[in-house]
Amino acid sequence: FKRMKEGLQRSTQALSEGVSGIFTKRKLDGETLQELEDLLIMADMGLDQAAAIAEAVGKGRYNKEVSPEEIREILAEEIAAVLAPVEKPFEIDSSKKPFIVLVTGVNGSGKTTTIGKIGAKLKAEGKSVMFAAGDTFRAAAIDQLKIWGERIGAPVVETKVGGDAAGLAFEAIDRAKAEGTDVLLIDTAGRLQNKAGLMAELEKVVRVIKKRDPEAPHLSLLVLDATTGQNAINQVEVFKETAGLTGLIMTKLDGTARGGILVALAGRFGLPVHLIGVGEGIDDLQSFNAKNFARAITG
Ligand code: GDP
Repeated sequence: FKRMKEGLQRSTQALSEGVSGIFTKRKLDGETLQELEDLLIMADMGLDQAAAIAEAVGKGRYNKEVSPEEIREILAEEIAAVLAPVEKPFEIDSSKKPFIVLVTGVNGSGKTTTIGKIGAKLKAEGKSVMFAAGDTFRAAAIDQLKIWGERIGAPVVETKVGGDAAGLAFEAIDRAKAEGTDVLLIDTAGRLQNKAGLMAELEKVVRVIKKRDPEAPHLSLLVLDATTGQNAINQVEVFKETAGLTGLIMTKLDGTARGGILVALAGRFGLPVHLIGVGEGIDDLQSFNAKNFARAITG
């Protein structure tokens, strides 16, 4: 919890100081609540959630003196209530072998790093892991995944730059089956500047995976960079259908004052949030806990 709190420092500072600024020696009324709502919008919680949360904070407290500490506490409760339904641990079903995880996200979101971190976590739990370097467009992405593979001792299935991602996924599943691998993590391309091409490729990757195993991918996770704020909403819209998203991972929560974006996403899509990234290190990937997160960002 302490590590997450340190990671979320900038979001915490923005909300905590904001609440103090609004509610010190002032009553809770229409004006201060409007200021609170603006603060929540600035933290990227989105218009709907910001309005709903501010309203909930105000309920039964109009024209009362409420201390900033109390407001922070109530705020944490209300935020936790929005986030609780999407808190879902990252879990592997060992009866599925390999358990296939498709990982999508735009370039730079932290996709490759997150795959590496998840691989490390699984290895530490004694599971065997394989990576498929499905971002066949970028030599750097393939290399980066190979570095992770070496680091944690996971084989990496790759093809040449510009190679067919769907064919690679197919080959990786076969190899994982043959080797009795527990978990196969499939990386994908994320060049959003060619959206139509990207979606066509992703569709094909998913189709080929299903051909090999109709129940797969067992998880289809979108990696989102918290520092992009409201842009994350558009990214979910883009990937939701094509990738058949089952859940989200939010990275770089350590680098932003916009941690509230998780609240906006939870309210809008209700997709499970499994993990959050709070740094570049191998251990900087944590299970998402609604209560702790809400407490950490409200200060
Ligand atoms: P990809 O293009 O989506 O595969 O992104 P990368 O995995 O290459 O990550 C892009 C950059 O973000 C790298 O410098 C990572 O070290 C960094 N990064 C990834 N996750 C986090 C995180 O949770 N916190 C911070 N501060 N940096 C991160």
